[in-house]
Amino acid sequence: MELLDSKTLIRRFHAFYEEYMKDEIKKTLHAGKTYLEVSFYDLSEYDFELGDYLLAHPEDTISIMEETLKQFQDEDSKSHIKIRFLNLPETERVLIRDIRSEQLGKLVFLEGLVRRKTDVRPRLTHLEYLCTNPSCTYAEESIKVPQIEDKAKTLKVCPKCKSGVELINKNLVDSQILILEEIAEQLDSSADQPKRINVLLQGDLVSPFKDSKTNPGSRVLVMGLVKEVPIPTRTGAESINYDLIVEGNSIQLSSEEFSEIIISKEEQAEIKRLAKEEGILKKLVSNTAPSIYGYDRIKEAILLQQFKGSGGVKGDGVKTRGDIHILLIGDPGAAKSQMLKAATRIAPKSSFVSGKSATGAGLVASVIKDELTKGWALEAGAMVLASGGLLAIDEMDKMSDEDTSSMHEALEQQTVSIAKANIRATLRCETTVLGAANPKLGRFDPFGDIGKQINFPPALISRFDLIFILRDEPDKKKDDMIADHILQTHRDKSKTVTEMSKEFLQKYIAYARAMQPVLTQDAIKKIKDFYVSIRNAAGEDENGIKSVPITARQLEAIVRLGEAYAKVELSKKVTQRHAELAIDLLLYCLQKIGIDPKTGEMDIDRLTTGVTSSTRNVFRQVQIIIDNLERESPEITYDAIIEAAEKLNVKKSEVDKTLEKLKQEGVIFEPRKNMYKKLN
Ligand code: ADP
Ligand code: MG
Repeated sequence: MELLDSKTLIRRFHAFYEEYMKDEIKKTLHAGKTYLEVSFYDLSEYDFELGDYLLAHPEDTISIMEETLKQFQDEDSKSHIKIRFLNLPETERVLIRDIRSEQLGKLVFLEGLVRRKTDVRPRLTHLEYLCTNPSCTYAEESIKVPQIEDKAKTLKVCPKCKSGVELINKNLVDSQILILEEIAEQLDSSADQPKRINVLLQGDLVSPFKDSKTNPGSRVLVMGLVKEVPIPTRTGAESINYDLIVEGNSIQLSSEEFSEIIISKEEQAEIKRLAKEEGILKKLVSNTAPSIYGYDRIKEAILLQQFKGSGGVKGDGVKTRGDIHILLIGDPGAAKSQMLKAATRIAPKSSFVSGKSATGAGLVASVIKDELTKGWALEAGAMVLASGGLLAIDEMDKMSDEDTSSMHEALEQQTVSIAKANIRATLRCETTVLGAANPKLGRFDPFGDIGKQINFPPALISRFDLIFILRDEPDKKKDDMIADHILQTHRDKSKTVTEMSKEFLQKYIAYARAMQPVLTQDAIKKIKDFYVSIRNAAGEDENGIKSVPITARQLEAIVRLGEAYAKVELSKKVTQRHAELAIDLLLYCLQKIGIDPKTGEMDIDRLTTGVTSSTRNVFRQVQIIIDNLERESPEITYDAIIEAAEKLNVKKSEVDKTLEKLKQEGVIFEPRKNMYKKLN
């Protein structure tokens, strides 16, 4: 394209402004805004060649556009107004992985997930000098030294007369860097590492952390110029290695519908037809992870997890989650990892991490030092980046308690709050979690109590709606079947080809997910009856302590599951039958883990607080004994405790254990052997 001189360009842009943007410019100037939003489509509609010229020589053309704008300003108030493009043609769209040096200086348009956002910092744009020689022209008119690189460029002498110069102005602009990461759906395979790019935002484009629009985890569209920045060397010498950076021209939230699954009319009809079929759930289950033998209830659960509960905002503005979190705990080799991989395949949006390499910070969010700006930055972890989708976390038992506890808020409130250094932010984290872990000693002890072999803090456990136990017990018949199944699928790959394609299953899920089924009165009654009966079923002991089998969290889990069951059938209502199915699935899980060996009753408390109601009772009884004895004398002898305990039929060994625990917890101390005192 031939070069146009600046006079011509100014004339043509002026005409464009007159024709298309007069009102807009007036409004912008009136409101004192520092930028003007221009639609590329308008520009190229008005003057096709001008649009093309802009794409060919973006940097110079944009500064001419900005210069031309000055002609619309009053003589005495000519502030610099930036041009921000609202849109660009699809031809300028690039994938983050495809940005190369050939795009240097080009205007591009890309989409990504914000992984990191730095603090807003002033950045030097240019230094302004005056010459000290009064007869030099630069004594009147200043010399501007633009700053692009990491190290400031200064001026020692006047470029014209070589006299000394005086710094009169430092022009600073607010700036911020975002690191954008490729969106999972844009990757060829889930094994690919997503690529990243730095985006520099300046002036009106920067936003503090309280403005959540560009916070980590958001999906954005960025238009900008591709530039190079030298990678600083350790010695400070000029570097030969450069990094590419996108200097943002505009940034917008990208609507997630962008890559939403498209379902054709015919497919919709097919989905509706299938949903009415008897046994549709079974059919969907048989199409889930066909290469894994058995585990139908787990497959059912991970399928329901994809359909989700309705969730929503309650009357008082409290948001309840619709996500169904599931945890698989089992022996090694029980196909846990396989199940997780299978789930990520059916989920429309998903990612996979291993607890072995994940830290709490890497999972939710962290505040780190940013190398480019040398300031603090907020970086999203895998859970935040997976917002709106499924995150499979394998080997959760390898994570420390500290790391898992950072997930609590994300699992229940679906947000991540962080306050560190000078950064305070709340990030959205609507992620469904499917976790897998080995039991305490790596493998279940078949004679031991399962509940005690689950090595997770109660606060974490209680956030999972369903917990499945996978046992790898030798069982001749089952082993035969699994062996056949595995060997057959190895021999004949077509054996695992399902009737329903993966794409169709995803479409089914996406279509059904949009349903918002509501609980019918019958369903409410069913769930309530179940809840009340099971909470009362647990017998009271002589001290009036009940083993509470189920808590309000499980109640919500039932509702979510009921909603998911309704969605499978595209039903607008959660019926009594759906409620029964949900209760049945929950009971299935609870029974595998929660039977109190002493009472034979279900006791979710043992799981979620780490003590069974019978040991909790012993605990209470010993405390009561100590309290009573203390009234007689502040020093309590061991023998007196044992004597009192015997009367209540509490075994000596249990008392010993309890005393040890009370000492550990600092309730009592032992100033002399076999002599206790309460700490007050
Ligand atoms: P885990 O993560 O529980 O330790 P994996 O998911 O790595 O176990 O599974 C180990 C291997 O055993 C896999 O190759 C898996 O295919 C096979 N396997 C175990 N149980 C089954 C099953 N029920 N059906 C099919 N394959 C199974
Ligand atoms: Mg595994």
